[in-house]
Amino acid sequence: MKNVIYLDAGKAMYKGNLHLHTTWSDGAQPAEEVVEAFKAKGYHFISLSDHDIYTRTEDFDTEHFITLPGTERGELNPVADKNPGYHFGALDDPTVEPELARYGHLEKFPTPVPWVGDHSPQLLIDELRAHGNLVVFNHPEWHLTRFEDMVKYDRFFAVEIYNHATEWSTASSYGAAYWDHALQNGKRIFGIAADDSHVHEEGWAIPEFGGGWIRAQAESLTQAGVIRSLKEGRFYSSSGPEIHDLRVEDGELKIRCSPCKFIMFKAFPQRGPFFGNFESGKPLTEASMEIEEDMAYIRVECIDFEGKVAWTNPVFIADLLE
Ligand SMILES: [Zn+2]
Ligand SMILES: [Zn+2]
Repeated sequence: MKNVIYLDAGKAMYKGNLHLHTTWSDGAQPAEEVVEAFKAKGYHFISLSDHDIYTRTEDFDTEHFITLPGTERGELNPVADKNPGYHFGALDDPTVEPELARYGHLEKFPTPVPWVGDHSPQLLIDELRAHGNLVVFNHPEWHLTRFEDMVKYDRFFAVEIYNHATEWSTASSYGAAYWDHALQNGKRIFGIAADDSHVHEEGWAIPEFGGGWIRAQAESLTQAGVIRSLKEGRFYSSSGPEIHDLRVEDGELKIRCSPCKFIMFKAFPQRGPFFGNFESGKPLTEASMEIEEDMAYIRVECIDFEGKVAWTNPVFIADLLE
C-alpha cells in the first residue's frame, strides 16, 4: 500500500469561502465591503458567487488575498415558480481550455432556467462545464434534493456538505449524507463547507457569515493554484475545528487536528473506528486506523466540544493499491 500525504502540516493552507452574495444579486453589501469583511476575518480567498451573474474581480486581488471568478446558477425548478429548485456553484477553471467562451465580468444569465424534464439539471451542469467551470452541487438538504440525484447527475466535482446560511435561516445545512450516498455509489466527489452569506455584519451575536469554510493546500495563492488543489481534493472543510495533517503511512490513515471531542473515521462498506475520551473528557488531537484493502473510501470527521465539525475529503483506497 502506498504512503500518501493528503494534507501536510508543514505546508501553507489557505482559508476560503466559495459561496456568498453581494448587491450584484440579493446580498446586503457591495462587493468592496464583502471583500473587506472576509479579509478582516483572515480569509485568503473568496468567490463572489452572485445569483445568475458572473463575477471576475481580480482588481480586488492582493499578494495575500484573491477572488475566484464564479457564479451561482439557480431558478431551475421542477414546478414552475415554486421553490425549492436546483442551485449550482460555478468556479472558473483556468487550467482547462473550454469548448465555449469563458463568461465575462457581470455577464447575466437568463432566469428562470426552463425545466424540460429530469435531465434539466444535467443540461445546466454541462453548460457551465462547457464554459470552463468547475461545478458544485449547492445545499442539497435545503432544496430538498432527492438522494438519487447524487447518482443520476454527473460532472459536478463537489457537493456542499455544510452551508452556513441555511443553518442560520432554516437549520437545514448538512449535506454529508448526500455525499456518502454519492460515494457509496462509486462517485469520486469532494465535500465543501461554505457560508452562502448574504449579510456581512460584524457584531451580530449569531452571525450569518464566517461559519463555514475550506482550507486549501495550494502550492501558491493564485487562481490556478487554488483551483488545482480543489480539483485534486487537497483541502478540507470546517465549521470550527482545524485539521493539521492527513496521511497514509504504513497501511494506516493518520489525522492530526485541533482539540476535539470526537474523531470519526467514516469508512465504507465497513464502519471505521470512533474515538472519544468518554470518562476523562480529555480533548483528542490525533487518531489513526488500519486501512483494509476491501474498503472503498474513508473520510474523517473531527467534532469539537461545541459540536462544530471539520471534514476531510475521502481517501479512495483503490488509489493506494495501484
Ligand atoms: Zn443557493
Ligand atoms: Zn447562494
